[in-house]
Amino acid sequence: MANSQYLPIIAIRGRVVFPHTSVTFDVGRSISLAALKMASKTACLFVCAQRDSAKDEIDESDIYPVGTVVAIRQISKLPGGNARLQCMGLYRAVARDISFNEGTFTAIADELVCRQGDPGLVEAYMRTVRACEERITDGGEGVFTPSVTVALKKITDADEYVDVCANAMKIPFEGKQKILECPVVTERLAMLNSFMENEIEIMGYERKIKARVRESVDKNQKEYYLREQLKAIHAELGDDGEETDELEEKILSSDMPEEVKNKALKELSRMSRMQTSSPDYNVIRIYLDWLLDLPWTNATADTAKLSDAVKILNKDHYGLEKIKKRITEYIAVLQRTGGVNAPILCFVGPPGVGKTSVASSIARALGRKFVRMSLGGVRDEAEIRGHRKTYVGAMPGRIIAGMKKAGTVNPVFLFDEVDKISADMRGDPADALLEVLDPAQNNTFQDRYLEVPYDLSRVLFITTANTLETIPAPLRDRMEIIELGGYTHEEKAEIAKRYLIPKKLQANGLTKSELSISEGALNTIIECYTMEAGVRNLERKIDALCRRAAVELADGKIKKFSVTEKNLEDILGAKRYDKDEKLRRDEVGAACGLAWTAYGGATLIIEVSKMQGKGEVLLTGKLGDVMKESARAAISYIRSNCEDYGIDVSAFETTDIHVHVPEGATPKDGPSAGITMACAILSAFTGKPVKSSVAMTGEITLRGKVLPIGGLKEKALAAYRTGIRNVIIPEDNERDLDEIPQTVRENINFIPVSDVDTVFRNAIVGM
Ligand code: ADP
Repeated sequence: MANSQYLPIIAIRGRVVFPHTSVTFDVGRSISLAALKMASKTACLFVCAQRDSAKDEIDESDIYPVGTVVAIRQISKLPGGNARLQCMGLYRAVARDISFNEGTFTAIADELVCRQGDPGLVEAYMRTVRACEERITDGGEGVFTPSVTVALKKITDADEYVDVCANAMKIPFEGKQKILECPVVTERLAMLNSFMENEIEIMGYERKIKARVRESVDKNQKEYYLREQLKAIHAELGDDGEETDELEEKILSSDMPEEVKNKALKELSRMSRMQTSSPDYNVIRIYLDWLLDLPWTNATADTAKLSDAVKILNKDHYGLEKIKKRITEYIAVLQRTGGVNAPILCFVGPPGVGKTSVASSIARALGRKFVRMSLGGVRDEAEIRGHRKTYVGAMPGRIIAGMKKAGTVNPVFLFDEVDKISADMRGDPADALLEVLDPAQNNTFQDRYLEVPYDLSRVLFITTANTLETIPAPLRDRMEIIELGGYTHEEKAEIAKRYLIPKKLQANGLTKSELSISEGALNTIIECYTMEAGVRNLERKIDALCRRAAVELADGKIKKFSVTEKNLEDILGAKRYDKDEKLRRDEVGAACGLAWTAYGGATLIIEVSKMQGKGEVLLTGKLGDVMKESARAAISYIRSNCEDYGIDVSAFETTDIHVHVPEGATPKDGPSAGITMACAILSAFTGKPVKSSVAMTGEITLRGKVLPIGGLKEKALAAYRTGIRNVIIPEDNERDLDEIPQTVRENINFIPVSDVDTVFRNAIVGM
């Protein structure tokens, strides 16, 4: 006979109370306390779950009508008027006639009549759920407490088993309510089984997650352990790893880009595993020092005001007006663009004309650091790009070395003597240089030693060369050529007085009042002790004078040392040059030409003699092919026009001609000696002397035309230096006269010509 009794209802929140289980819960709401009060009479309560556990004020629709009738075991009072209730679930019941009495809900609780279902099915389910239970217990995730496990083992009744098991498991509250409401035991078993399977699956995931976490924890722990061991080993070996710690700190706080930092840390970790005495340890140590010493972001700010920059430029150099003007433009643009895509300037000119010092002056004017790298004789690409770290004694290339020296990422970087690089089988340094100078590539310059890209894009590159001819064409195309010619005697004297003498006085620790150099002495040094387009030797001679003065002043007997023409030879030795070579008097078969060399202009005497023979031509003096052809053209022209010059045609058949250019050791080439050779040859055949006061330059054609030549400025300077005051030049070169310094133009009579006849008339006596 099913139970049916009138009971107060307690609406329990967030959980479901099952029969066969002992539960403890707290109550505090007034309706619950009123229910408790009423229950003191019945000793039983009807516990139903509340649908929405968040709700405080409820009416009867908020209560699930199926609940459990419980017997109260104990009520204890809690602070704040709450009560703790311990009770035992007795049976399932359905609420009938719910009403509100004495401040609480009450109902008639009719016991839910349950059916067992097919006993075979019950048994089958029982086996399955027990197997599940075992797996869950074995999983060790604490779903069933040990007391529950023990209790479950003892239970034989399926009904009780489901209740105890469902109560213990983490099943959603609605799921539990469904199990409670179900009147058929086999169905409850089926529900329980599916919740258990679900639990097992979740446990599988949990295990996987935990394993993964453990794996990473284990790895960290292992590394930590190994590291500690390593530290202990290092400490035992008397090396406490301080160095690596220090390096790590330096790397982390450095301004290296992330990629470089990672690379450095990787190398450091390799290093920390090595013995300090191992050679590899040192290799990495040096490598890391390089990475740490290189500038990565440190830059100088450019001089803000153009006028300040120009002031410095003017102060550093005398003359060079055109060049200063171009550089002023260059700096003005730079100050706007910060040097991005700045053209690469190439200063071309003879040695000592100030190419290097103009470049360093640009750096000073901009307030940037200056690094100089001479490319003279660089044959190996590795000198520019470095050697791989695996080579013994490997080092970065000179570019990276230069950057380290500069200490900033935006220095002025000078490549001196780009015309002197040469390629051999170890790669072409010009290729590497091209990459460095190419703005599209140089932001990721690859040095083989460094292994990480280095950004050269903020560097300002400048190059110098003595001649354009030997610069590889692709390199030449990339640069803006600025030519610096030689200086006149007067310019040299002025540079000496204003710059070189003060500079050398200071370098030798002398004051202005301690050394005087007379005007005459200075002129003699320029004319007789140096023969150059620039002022490099002049500077050396002045240095020699200063050193001598330091010796003379040493014992304090004299307060001032004077250099005059009289004691000059005593200090500098015998005069080296009697100015440039020139014809001392009008001579037959000799003419003075003008040549251009990488070291500036020079005079060139051409000698011709004729002797009895069979009409052969002999050319000596280490002449190049072009010069030889030029000589033959001159002979052919004179021969074909011999009658005009009063020469017998047969003379050419019975005479051998010997053309010689002295200073046979120096190779000479180029067409510009054509008219000079023609003069010397004609003079030899006619017996009429060539005027010693005339020098000339120009190419000759078979028809007797005079073609233009290059290097007029240097050639004119050479003539001027030598004291020649008449210079025959091709008519087409007249336009180049602007480039020639004023003093030279004023003192030399330039004779422009377009044909050889005019040359002869001006150069040969009596023509
Ligand atoms: P380059 O690089 O052309 O061979 P440098 O720049 O080394 O020549 O110059 C040699 C010396 O001459 C340096 O001391 C330089 O300061 C000085 N010099 C050259 N030209 C001038 C000039 N116009 N004004 C002042 N000094 C000069």
